[in-house]
Amino acid sequence: MRRKNLLLSGWGRFPSAKSDAFRPEKLSEIAACLRDGDGSILARGAGRSYGDQALNSAGAVVLTERLDRFLSLETEGSTSTLTVEAGISLSAIQRLLIPRGLMLPVSPGTGFATVGGAIANDIHGKNHDADGSFGAHVAWIDLLTASGDVRRLTPDETPRDFWATVGGAGLTGIILAAALRLLKIPSNAVALREERMPDLAAFLNGLRAARAAARFSVGWIDALASGDRIGRGILETADLSAEGVAITPRKAKAIPLNLPTFCLSRSSVTLFNAAYYHRIPRAGRQSLRAIEDFLYPLDALAHWNRLYGKLGFSQFQAVLPDDAAETGLRALLNAVGQGGTASFLAVLKTLGAEGSGLLSFPQPGFTLALDLPRRAETEALLARLEAITLDHGGRIYLAKDSALSAAGFARMYPRLAEFQAIAAEMDPVGRFASDQSRRLNLRGA
Ligand SMILES: Cc1cc2nc3c(=O)[nH]c(=O)nc-3n(C[C@H](O)[C@H](O)[C@H](O)COP(=O)(O)OP(=O)(O)OC[C@H]3O[C@@H](n4cnc5c(N)ncnc54)[C@H](O)[C@@H]3O)c2cc1C
Repeated sequence: MRRKNLLLSGWGRFPSAKSDAFRPEKLSEIAACLRDGDGSILARGAGRSYGDQALNSAGAVVLTERLDRFLSLETEGSTSTLTVEAGISLSAIQRLLIPRGLMLPVSPGTGFATVGGAIANDIHGKNHDADGSFGAHVAWIDLLTASGDVRRLTPDETPRDFWATVGGAGLTGIILAAALRLLKIPSNAVALREERMPDLAAFLNGLRAARAAARFSVGWIDALASGDRIGRGILETADLSAEGVAITPRKAKAIPLNLPTFCLSRSSVTLFNAAYYHRIPRAGRQSLRAIEDFLYPLDALAHWNRLYGKLGFSQFQAVLPDDAAETGLRALLNAVGQGGTASFLAVLKTLGAEGSGLLSFPQPGFTLALDLPRRAETEALLARLEAITLDHGGRIYLAKDSALSAAGFARMYPRLAEFQAIAAEMDPVGRFASDQSRRLNLRGA
């Protein structure tokens, strides 16, 4: 199997690393990548994780982008099920399903993520309280294991291996295909409500109320507002709508070049964030929005990761339990505000009950995600945010991470030892690894 040496990075464009890359055309060719690669190996989907999770500079990666076929769609009976190859993007699936009155029950904020990546991070959407995370809707996974065998994993027959693979960051094997249970929808639209939230306390109350009142909710926070306005932003709540909308195919606009750093000065980002806030009238507004536009708003701006210039950026995402959320979020936002690096809008959401994935991120509480442009002080700021997260009983999301300490990770994820034991049974020679797994010692001794 031919391989190429490529310079790769995650969506944050930091860090980057050279790695041998295989690009199989068919499922049957993946086993050859495992045979022909001599060191460690890792599946890589669309590279939409932000840090070093989909990098393997000490070995090879298997690019799954050509493994993007639909295998079957069953709509008989009460539950519809779609079977796909793991390299297919979530947007491609939604484009097939939505006109047929179906959709994926759980989606992240980008439709470019692949099914393999969605399973490996057990991703969550804007509806975690109502629908849980991605793994809860997976009927089975076909996994290529270190021995070269393909095993079918299900939550009922092989729960240990299934729940180590869901959220397992690619470390138990290469997901070849999966069967996904679907959600029936009355139309192609959601009924969206947008409201200004003047400060953090109002925002948290708004999100708490939305947990019971709406299927979807998400907050956009002005991460540079300070004083009485800290935590102000726009709350979006939405439900599936009986009435649909006419779809005009969207043509993504692109950020052509790396933006020069002056565009990211504190004053220009402050102006952008304030304009975003004041865009919504004081009394709020309601509209119908196409499901894909609501789920994947940032996909309309191709290469938006170039906004942060050629040094790239780190994303930080943590969840804090309900009772510690207000003080913890205030401390995180204050640290970012004092950090001197300008962050565009931050995202605030609620998460519901913990799932069964051993390394899955969601736990009940509030989750904050924000971008930090790479500067000399970024590492120190990320270390400070890790300490605040630990002090408030929270955890940081592997999909977004490039800086967490191994000790911090072990304190945040109490089922790590269980994961390590199962991964060692599934892959005794430690074939599957990533730059992140080595940094955080995810595979253990
Ligand atoms: C704009 C944006 C918004 C986002 N919003 C959210 C959000 O709301 N919620 C959320 O949970 N996440 C969110 N994310 C993160 C994203 O959903 C995850 O990082 C997802 O895993 C990316 O999928 P990918 O195919 O790009 O995976 P990659 O980044 O390529 O890989 C991520 C991990 O998945 C593993 N993997 C990929 N394919 C396979 C496979 N076939 N077999 C085994 N392992 C595999 C890799 O080894 C790696 O460990 C967002 C990302 C972006 C860029």
